Amino acid sequence: MAIERTLSIIKPDATRRNLTGRINAKFEDAGLRIIAQKRLHLTKAQAGQFYAVHAERPFYDELCTFMASEPVVVQVLEGESAIAKNREVMGATNPANADDGTIRKEFALSVGENSVHGSDAPETAAVEIAFFFSGLELVG
Ligand code: ADP
Ligand code: MG
Repeated sequence: MAIERTLSIIKPDATRRNLTGRINAKFEDAGLRIIAQKRLHLTKAQAGQFYAVHAERPFYDELCTFMASEPVVVQVLEGESAIAKNREVMGATNPANADDGTIRKEFALSVGENSVHGSDAPETAAVEIAFFFSGLELVG
């Protein structure tokens, strides 16, 4: 077990419905600390660059349009096994498959508009954190 950092995004469906605080309470209740945070309105090109790994997927264009549709909150969560813990608190990608008590079970609207993003591995966490934050902005 180690202290890790992971990138979290509160997606447009959630900022639009004023759920930022309720979502972050779930992270904090799980022992994750928000050590960097900012609210941005991404361009579609920026969303496309962030999600480049999904460029060949059929939902890529829809995903990029959605992520640029309203503001997002990008943040870095820190804690014991933060990458896996964040994914646990988020719940399954499709809210229909998400466990009770998870963010996606409680708040997601659909498999696309599913309220939160979280890095899936140490390598992707490092790349995704560096996409949005400089080292000076990470205040643990
Ligand atoms: P996760 O966000 O759980 O890591 P993925 O990395 O597989 O999931 O997908 C990235 C994002 O793309 C999802 O969170 C969701 O917003 C969107 N997405 C995934 N699958 C679909 C789908 N079948 N239809 C529409 N959007 C999807
Ligand atoms: Mg993913």
